Amino acid sequence: MASQLIESDVTEIISINPSNGEEIGRVPITSAADVVKAVRIAHAAQPGWAKLTFRERARIILRAREIVLSDVDEIATLISRETGKPAPEAISMEVVPTLDLMYYFARQTARLLKQQKIGLGLYSWMGRSSKIVYKPVGVVGVISPWNFPWATPLDEVVMALMAGNAVVLKPSELTSFSALKIADVFKRAQLPSGVLQIITGDGTTGAALVAAGVDKIMFTGSVATGVRVAETAAKYLLPVVLELGGKDPMIVLDDANITNAAKAAVWGAFANAGQACASIERCYVHESIATKFTDEVVKQTQLLRTGPGTEVDIGAMTTERQLLIVDDHVHDAVANGAKVIIGGKQQKGTRGWFYEPTVITNVNQSMRLMRAETFGPVLPITTFTSDEEAILLANDSIYGLTASVFTSNISRGHRIAEQLEAGTVMVNEVVYTHALGQTPWGGVKQSGYGRTHGRLGLLELVTPQHIHLNRMPFLPDAWWFRYSPLANDLFHGLARRFTTGSVLKAAPLLPKIIRRLFE
Ligand code: NAD
Repeated sequence: MASQLIESDVTEIISINPSNGEEIGRVPITSAADVVKAVRIAHAAQPGWAKLTFRERARIILRAREIVLSDVDEIATLISRETGKPAPEAISMEVVPTLDLMYYFARQTARLLKQQKIGLGLYSWMGRSSKIVYKPVGVVGVISPWNFPWATPLDEVVMALMAGNAVVLKPSELTSFSALKIADVFKRAQLPSGVLQIITGDGTTGAALVAAGVDKIMFTGSVATGVRVAETAAKYLLPVVLELGGKDPMIVLDDANITNAAKAAVWGAFANAGQACASIERCYVHESIATKFTDEVVKQTQLLRTGPGTEVDIGAMTTERQLLIVDDHVHDAVANGAKVIIGGKQQKGTRGWFYEPTVITNVNQSMRLMRAETFGPVLPITTFTSDEEAILLANDSIYGLTASVFTSNISRGHRIAEQLEAGTVMVNEVVYTHALGQTPWGGVKQSGYGRTHGRLGLLELVTPQHIHLNRMPFLPDAWWFRYSPLANDLFHGLARRFTTGSVLKAAPLLPKIIRRLFE
């Protein structure tokens, strides 16, 4: 099979089903000039959209949600054809979380973005008050990857729209049709024209979007592309959120429930054929339970069915390029002394890019398999002897997206969680909190910056405006001109007494303040 993505000429992308090589369809590569036009249209449409109340915006989101529900099988089949993942997994890992997120932000955005009063201490005694109001940023450019072609862009779109923004979405060139289905859903939900536009295309279209006059970029993708996006954005002082790669560790302590931890490791490493930013890519298990745990992992892996169709657990990898990276990491590890316990090669006898779920031991921190993002169905397992060592090993990475700790002792889990360098740490869980729209998602170190989801994610999509009021417009301020001897004396008093925040301590200054006001 040739490459999945064929740029037949400079203006068109041909999309191929990675399970069987069939052509799914063709979409245009949007030119830089057309990207600028789309952003202009979005700017024109956004103020009208922002004028609607939260309730009015929520009505449209909930209408879109009903359409997603009624088209759920069509959507899952489309995602499956574009990415190779089994349709049931498309429903569980993409459609269900998104339906939940749509409901949450439709119902909660008004509360989450409610204006806030700020306490001003002694200044409030002077008739002053402050509050923060949240205004939409304007036009949000969303650039998304192929591994969750429905959930990742749609989550961003829903949150940006609820906050009152217009959106221009540039989906991955490998999954354009899932994004076009998002456009179809919102059109049928009667979203006003111009408020959401999809621009299909490759990296050139993405780069054009960053330079096209949007007010914010929400980027999800690889570290290498994230760096390029940040570089271009810096030229325009354009704020960006970067949701990048991961090399997520799972720590299994000696008191963990071994069977359940093994099942979690297998799902965490192999779901979505390992092509999740938060996939378990390094497993550290206490040496006292390592044999038992590894045997259980292998037993669970043997039960998995890999191949095309719906009655399988692991589908095709989405691109041949990714499969070759996975194979390279496995070969490099083996050449350096690692041992493949199960899997370790491309699955033969099928037309698509299927890679056998792979468990590897005898690995060490210097191997490519333990350092670079593999993004495939490979679970390397190694051991530790103390909590401190487990923490050191887990933190020994340039990435920091999520991490997991398995233990029966919740406070021990908590203690370790707080010492791990990751945007999210799960105790007795793996991968799944991206599905919790209520909770923030994002990384530290080279996994990126900024957050999506939850209130913190919503705050990325608004500009906080501080409004300050003086309810005594008939009086001058004591610190205004001119700086007389009385003023100088008062300022010393302010330094000593007013800045303590105590009414009692500041009270003796009152006569001086009054004299100064009428000076
Ligand atoms: P990628 O970086 O190759 O592409 C991501 C998007 O950027 C695509 O739409 C692509 O067309 C576009 N793009 C390419 N060059 C560009 C440029 N110069 N300017 C602007 N846009 C450009 O990533 P991918 O291979 O599609 O996705 C896989 C990566 O995404 C993995 O590293 C994975 O970990 C990461 N990811 C992260 C998260 C997260 O939440 N942190 C979620 C999903 C995927």
